[in-house]
Amino acid sequence: MKNVFVLGSTGSIGVNTLNVIRNFPDHFKVSALTVNTNTTLLLEQVNEFKPGCVVVKNKEAAINLENQLPAKCILLVGSEGLITAASEIDYDIFLGAMVGYAGLAPTMEAIKRGKRIALANKETLVVAGEVVKSYCEKYGAEIIPVDSEHSAIYQCLVGENIGDVEKLIITASGGPFFNKDKSFFDHATVEEALDHPNWEMGNKITIDSATMMNKGLEVIEARWLFGLPTNKIDVVIHPQSIVHSMVQFRDGSIKAQMGLPDMKLPIQYALTYPERFENKFERTNLAAIGTLSFYEPDLEKFECLKLAFDVLDTGGTAPCVLNAANEIAVEKFLNKEIKFSTIPALIEKTLAKIGNHQSPDLDTIFACDLETREFVRKLN
Ligand code: MG
Repeated sequence: MKNVFVLGSTGSIGVNTLNVIRNFPDHFKVSALTVNTNTTLLLEQVNEFKPGCVVVKNKEAAINLENQLPAKCILLVGSEGLITAASEIDYDIFLGAMVGYAGLAPTMEAIKRGKRIALANKETLVVAGEVVKSYCEKYGAEIIPVDSEHSAIYQCLVGENIGDVEKLIITASGGPFFNKDKSFFDHATVEEALDHPNWEMGNKITIDSATMMNKGLEVIEARWLFGLPTNKIDVVIHPQSIVHSMVQFRDGSIKAQMGLPDMKLPIQYALTYPERFENKFERTNLAAIGTLSFYEPDLEKFECLKLAFDVLDTGGTAPCVLNAANEIAVEKFLNKEIKFSTIPALIEKTLAKIGNHQSPDLDTIFACDLETREFVRKLN
């Protein structure tokens, strides 16, 4: 029986994680659930999964919650509560489903305890990849990716030698604007950008998918997860989202992992690895799908993807700046303060202004993130 800590239990990954855990009551138990503000859904989850601890990040949302929780369930609040829970509660697997940079600090606590990290929070590796890798080695923690592309690559690499890899081929759906001209980006609305063709996800990642920054962040994530240089990582557009990613080996052979676009499968794999458990999820009918197509990504149109490749070459704190600038730019777009086409422009301006530090430690990264956010908030 494994105890699972679910960081971010009411978002789409968190809810799907609990859907998976529900299927295997003899194998998994929930030890902690954390949410930002959605205490209504949290209470339902507490009643069903009976965790020993819950954390509500937003302190106002936590008011009056204590009276509604079972006596045996501890309530912690705020970012400090997340750190306390991650460093003190008993668990075997830390499922990092929280979106954005805020997931970094609690994830580092789980790494310091040498836990299995089922990682969906890509920002952890984007912002602090080098530090995260060195902490994992030092404390004996293992990261099993939950992001569908990285799970696919992870599965393709089972039984293989990483030295035999010629390149990783990360697939991208292309998002809702794959077929639009660049001129469309000046008047693309929030509603249009949120209308993703294949995946049901939260707002932040759906906008990242429309700008293709999501793919850029995934390239950076892959670089740290698999320890391969940028020139061994390719992106290919695959609108059907059936091939979740591929690995090409030095003899020219390509392995692909396929399935329906459903996060339950990579989540389950990260929980059960190295085993595979039988489930009743819908199966892929390739004959019904008929066609799988692939295209070269247009880096001139999707400037965010190009910027992500650039910051990987720059290294140091540049990926941290890219991520922080993107988080604020996306927030501004969702609040209808800036145009869709302004997102990459803001990020580019910021990268040119914020100084770079090579081989940063965690404190340097925290400071760089803060400086970047303050800078971008003032831009239009
Ligand atoms: Mg992904």
